[in-house]
Amino acid sequence: MSKYHATLSRRDFMKAVGLAGAGVGIAGAVAPSFKDLDELAAAGTKEVHPWWVKEREANNPTSEIDWNLFKQLDKKTTGMPTASAENAAFRKTRDEKFDLEGLTQKIPGRDVRCAALADMVTGLQTAAPWDGPTGITPPQERGASRWEGSAEDNLTMLRAAFHLAGAQMTGALELNDKTLQIFDKDAVVFENIDQGTQDAKKVYHIPNKAKYLVAYSVQQNYVQSLYQLREDEAYPGKLAMPMPLGRPAIHRAYGDGRYTEWQAMRFIKNLGYGAYKAGVTTNVALGIFSGLGEQGRATYMMTPRAGLMTRITNYIITDLPVAATNPIDFGGTKFCETCMRCAEKCPSDALGKQTEPTWEAGPGNRPGYRGWRVDWLKCIEVGAPSRCGVCHTLCPFNHPSEGMIHPIVRSVAGNTSVFNQFFADMDRVFAYGEPKSHEELEAWWTRDLNKWKGDVTHGTGKFNW
Ligand code: SF4
Ligand code: SF4
Repeated sequence: MSKYHATLSRRDFMKAVGLAGAGVGIAGAVAPSFKDLDELAAAGTKEVHPWWVKEREANNPTSEIDWNLFKQLDKKTTGMPTASAENAAFRKTRDEKFDLEGLTQKIPGRDVRCAALADMVTGLQTAAPWDGPTGITPPQERGASRWEGSAEDNLTMLRAAFHLAGAQMTGALELNDKTLQIFDKDAVVFENIDQGTQDAKKVYHIPNKAKYLVAYSVQQNYVQSLYQLREDEAYPGKLAMPMPLGRPAIHRAYGDGRYTEWQAMRFIKNLGYGAYKAGVTTNVALGIFSGLGEQGRATYMMTPRAGLMTRITNYIITDLPVAATNPIDFGGTKFCETCMRCAEKCPSDALGKQTEPTWEAGPGNRPGYRGWRVDWLKCIEVGAPSRCGVCHTLCPFNHPSEGMIHPIVRSVAGNTSVFNQFFADMDRVFAYGEPKSHEELEAWWTRDLNKWKGDVTHGTGKFNW
């Protein structure tokens, strides 16, 4: 039995988060009425989000939207900035030197076997066709009827199926004048047709009846991600170019995402419905509008259970009726105002330390919302995405929910921002996100394969982390 299995009073609750001296008013506002800590930690685990997450209205995420400015993204005029030839040459020399040092000097986390491990999972899996896998005979062509269910039941069904296929969370949007603004400009037209097609100008034509968009998140492995972190004298006080031992976390997630995509589209087509993936580049917005998470300072989607560990928010446009899910508020975006964990270690200072989200967009950023922005040129010039894994690894919301303290901290942050600075400082004190020692890096190779929580083995179920 857990040693924390004891009656939980408001006083115990505040003591557990180190706030025993806080006023009664605050304690009353945030302390839940669970009878013990086990109940608190386990509460709502069947739900997509934990119990302290609030649902907001449709099309109203915590990143405020100005619908006069939030328009379809024109990729011709709002593309990513590109680094200078000089910077590209600098990075090439720097990276080759870095790689060779690791290989020849047998540096823990960077030696030949670590580089082999990073490459082992890179570039696997191709994307499914935009209109889904072929060779499927839907039930209508087999003398049966297609699947019929209510939009709510269909959402539950998709969540169950997609989770088996590798999606951590599944939500949905109804496609309407507002949500269609998330799409790229001139990429998609909806028409009175039966099957989707793509024309010579590469515009996607999608049936009008396909007015639902299913969004699902694919998570990367946090335990393995931590093995990227390293200090570098070229970036004093920051973290820098990742160690290959941590890179499989990212590349494996991309591969998993493709595998999930094939399965998810195949599932919908086998129910007797269309499945299309077309026209959206800014997939983070899909996750935020469908309530999978909020936007974090690092500009990715941040979720209550897994922080910045969503590697991809993928999507399927379909005529299968699916109930829309609303944006959420778990205090995440608010937490970013004081946290700064990602920004303070960013080697390029691309994230800034502004204390409030902004309407200012800057190159490569989408206008029309009040949120967190990255200086993409600075980020690219340091070598991201492939040569930087710092910001997404450092988020305090990444920590596993096991134990009792993290659910408590998160539930408080979901109710009041008063303690956010304190929680972020605790994260620093407990040295989460510190680079590992050489001994720890070497020990990875002889870890206990039966107990290691970072290993994700298809077919064996899921560790509780
Ligand atoms: S990926 Fe970019 S924004 Fe993030 S820490 Fe690295 S340089 Fe900074
Ligand atoms: S590390 Fe802190 S500031 Fe950065 S996204 Fe996470 S909560 Fe926000």
